Amino acid sequence: MADDSIAVVDLDRCQPDRCNYECAKYCPPNRTGKDCIVTRGDHYEEDEPYEGDPDQIRISEEICLGETCGICVEKCPFDAIEIINLPTELDEDPVHRYGENAFALYGLPVPDAGTVTGILGPNGIGKSTAVHILADELVPNLGNYGDEPGWEPVLDRYRGSGLQNYIEALLDDEVTVARKPQYVDQIPKQFDGKTNELLAATDERGVLDELVDRLGIRPVIDQPIDTLSGGELQRVALAATLARDRDFYFLDEITPYLDIGQRVTAARLIQELAETEDRAILVVEHDLAILDLLADSLHIGYGRPGAFGVITDPKSVRNGINEYLKGYLTNENMRIRPDAITFEEHAPRETTKSAPLVEYPSLEKSYGEGEFSLGVEGGTIYHSEVLGIVGPNGIGKSTLAKLFAGELEPDTGELDFRLDIAYKPQYIEIDQPMRVDAFLSSITSDFGSSLWKTEIAGPLQLERIMEQNLSDLSGGERQRVAIAATLSEDADLYVLDEPSAHLDVEQRVRATTAIRRYAENHDATVMVIDHDIYMIDLLADRLMVFDGEPAVEGHAETPQEMREGMNDFLSDLDITFRRDERTGRPRINKPDSQLDRKQKKAGEYYYA
Ligand code: ADP
Ligand code: ADP
Ligand code: SF4
Repeated sequence: MADDSIAVVDLDRCQPDRCNYECAKYCPPNRTGKDCIVTRGDHYEEDEPYEGDPDQIRISEEICLGETCGICVEKCPFDAIEIINLPTELDEDPVHRYGENAFALYGLPVPDAGTVTGILGPNGIGKSTAVHILADELVPNLGNYGDEPGWEPVLDRYRGSGLQNYIEALLDDEVTVARKPQYVDQIPKQFDGKTNELLAATDERGVLDELVDRLGIRPVIDQPIDTLSGGELQRVALAATLARDRDFYFLDEITPYLDIGQRVTAARLIQELAETEDRAILVVEHDLAILDLLADSLHIGYGRPGAFGVITDPKSVRNGINEYLKGYLTNENMRIRPDAITFEEHAPRETTKSAPLVEYPSLEKSYGEGEFSLGVEGGTIYHSEVLGIVGPNGIGKSTLAKLFAGELEPDTGELDFRLDIAYKPQYIEIDQPMRVDAFLSSITSDFGSSLWKTEIAGPLQLERIMEQNLSDLSGGERQRVAIAATLSEDADLYVLDEPSAHLDVEQRVRATTAIRRYAENHDATVMVIDHDIYMIDLLADRLMVFDGEPAVEGHAETPQEMREGMNDFLSDLDITFRRDERTGRPRINKPDSQLDRKQKKAGEYYYA
């Protein structure tokens, strides 16, 4: 077939004992007697090693007719096969291919001392593979997976490019690496001990004390790691990584579970390390406002998750994010999405409101003597609205949800209603040994109906993970299942705490659309707590702002229109946003820049 096409077989899905090789039976070249789809074992020379089970299939990319045929893809009952015509614009060989009919990576990011390089793109397109290569844990085979790989041909290929110096240093064993893993929730499974014990071993630069203070982890320094919240684990993991004395730092997502203030602090610490210590830092991040603030240059990643991925040459951060949102990469002449993601530059005009769901009076609630206390200003919540909730962690957001649900009684103020609340917590614990489809069908009798599929399973991309066990899901998959489970409940009020965590940008946009449509179609009311300002902007009709002192006292304002709400919230944080001239996308202003001062004076923090 054309060499611009690849066949990928997912060996975790291919189950020849449960099908009749329908793929091979119907493959047109096979039917004319060619060996296009054969079994792994049959086709290999004796003793020649191969991956997988001898009964699983392999597909000859030379013989296969390409994506336009695709018959095997349709026939396979387990979605194990992908046949992909690579974009014709992609005129290079892979940097690495894991094996025959396996994932292929094109392009590598370029770490550069003194700068923060960002990668923006979906999960599953080879970002970790690229980092394994740059950390010298994986010698890339340039697509020749049958040969013994070596660095010399790789150096030849990248001579004269931005990567030459880096690869030369790798060859001289001069590159040391520190990395922060994506899923911080896993840390307690790998480390048994207290926070200070974990951190003590990392203090190679002698800056740990400063990091602990600036990241606000002093209060948990003597606590066992397995008692820490996700937000605390994230900051401990950042401190542990940034305290190292290495040449190359890789940070796989820095924002999950952090509130905006903590995100901005983490961004500043990373920039300082790059600039003042001349280190190369590579960051994967899906919170675009933070990525924009943090990175000096940006690679876009695109492709088909699990099948192939392309990391582009570096772009300026502004152009990179703009092109990504537009869905079209200019230099590469590549469309990566049919539609653009757009933002409203002006606050939406006062929305016409439907009937009230509840009207509530001012309330107070404290947890015992001297413990946390919450004051709530009275207000109204309407049917069919998406209410954005913003404010730091530990400020009383879930306490308010519990008051509305009647799980807690207020100390002062009376609630004459009791709402059925469907609640998705920030930290998701669905670890039962149960399959996704069994779990979701236990929640709703609509499971599997065409409406449920269109509204929930489709946009949240659940089809491919229905047969997996809950305990085997990745963080992003678990998040999507949890959002689906919450929206599938029959409730008066849906409360979603940090739905953006571990979703990539595409998934955030899809989840946003699903949540909004759900509210409209079901006359439902949704409260979304999130710290990704782009997601809140895309989602919310109105805002409820929490302020106060985390873990001490909190105050919930009455729900406000977007403009007032954003001003209220961002003035507390002392952050202003300007608009990108070309796309209208919000961008964080440099503190004390001319625009920052002007907007603060005018009291316009967001819709300036
Ligand atoms: P990302 O970091 O962008 O989420 P990864 O680099 O982790 O992506 O993985 C990209 C793809 O490569 C995944 O589909 C994964 O299944 C595949 N992959 C990773 N490691 C191996 C391996 N050792 N053998 C075969 N495939 C692999
Ligand atoms: P948020 O949802 O904004 O993160 P929460 O409402 O969960 O905040 O918690 C606010 C504060 O109240 C935190 O400091 C938390 O530790 C404390 N808190 C929550 N539940 C209890 C409880 N049952 N007893 C004592 N303190 C509590
Ligand atoms: Fe055969 Fe290729 Fe068609 Fe699949 S896509 S049936 S492997 S020719």
